[in-house]
Amino acid sequence: MISKKIILRFPKENSNKPFTSTLSRQYNLTFNIMSAEIFPRQEGRLIIELSGDDRDFEQGIDYLKENGVSIQFIEESITIDYNKCYHCGFCLPVCPTNALLIEDRNTMKVELHKEECIACGYCVKVCPVKAIELSEFA
Ligand code: SF4
Ligand code: SF4
Repeated sequence: MISKKIILRFPKENSNKPFTSTLSRQYNLTFNIMSAEIFPRQEGRLIIELSGDDRDFEQGIDYLKENGVSIQFIEESITIDYNKCYHCGFCLPVCPTNALLIEDRNTMKVELHKEECIACGYCVKVCPVKAIELSEFA
């Protein structure tokens, strides 16, 4: 079983294809849509959490790629540079999913839980030293 949060980008010529229902019907995958920007005849962007058996997951991803959908796994897209971060905490209250947390009150270190991130970019905008990088916003 695998579950990942993914940013999907659809070319405008494929924006009306039923990608998500195909993932469900043909590849037995379940998905949870977290953000959707899809308009007729325009490039679309969808953030989903996709889950299923490993093999189905791989085949579903291949199906998307073969149909011109660009795929970015959020866990691989976000990083925090601890050479820059000084643990000010400004990014914590803007994070809608608690992906950024202080777990140890002694060290007050800000931890990033990549698996919770939905790539909203709010933390990137508020960080005073640009310690957080999200490749989408690079
Ligand atoms: S806002 Fe930037 S410097 Fe402050 S805790 Fe977050 S990542 Fe670190
Ligand atoms: S991009 Fe930043 S603010 Fe948004 S969910 Fe991820 S860690 Fe939280």
